[in-house]
Amino acid sequence: MKTNYKNDYQLVFSILSQHHHKTMLEQLSQYSVFQQLIATMLSSRTKDTTTIPLVKKLFEKYKTPQDFLNAKISVLEKELYGIGFYRVKARNIPQLSRMIIDKYQCIVPDTLEELTSLSGVGRKTANCMLNYAFHKPAIAVDVHVHRLSNRLGWVKTNTPEETELKLVKILPQELWISVNELLVDYGQRICLPRKPKCGECPVRKYCEFGKRDE
Ligand code: SF4
Repeated sequence: MKTNYKNDYQLVFSILSQHHHKTMLEQLSQYSVFQQLIATMLSSRTKDTTTIPLVKKLFEKYKTPQDFLNAKISVLEKELYGIGFYRVKARNIPQLSRMIIDKYQCIVPDTLEELTSLSGVGRKTANCMLNYAFHKPAIAVDVHVHRLSNRLGWVKTNTPEETELKLVKILPQELWISVNELLVDYGQRICLPRKPKCGECPVRKYCEFGKRDE
């Protein structure tokens, strides 16, 4: 029976951190918390290669909630074209901006409950904000985190929501803040959805899926 779970998690994190490339949100860390929130919303269901250049251009024009509130929806739709669900997001962003101005005096709130009360902000976006913008312990589970956690054998789950609930139970809290940045990057480059590059994976010996084919 396996007895060193905690050490395995820490080892895997330590190895992945040595092979880490910056995630999209790490690359956008120079922007304000509000702009990071908008970037995170826009990145959902969109490739980073589309999101990053688009938000950089967008943020030349829009810097504050007031800027987005003043935007014409039809103009914003054009500016967001290429982003997944861009029409929905073009409507959500001014509503969210209004809420941040009226309810939070232009300051993005820093709790899961308050963040998820904003228009268009789901649990994953809220947890990303807690992690990346507020540096608070939270586990933001997207498709990559969900897939890797299952392949590594840490969880046996069917949805990202289930994965989050399991991970917060099994991972030491000091690792939570690294889950998204390490697993998302790794899932985008090495542990690919269809053909994971297990042959070149430095954590293979800790991975249930990887060990199957050895
Ligand atoms: S061994 Fe394969 S499946 Fe496991 S983490 Fe590495 S790339 Fe992913």
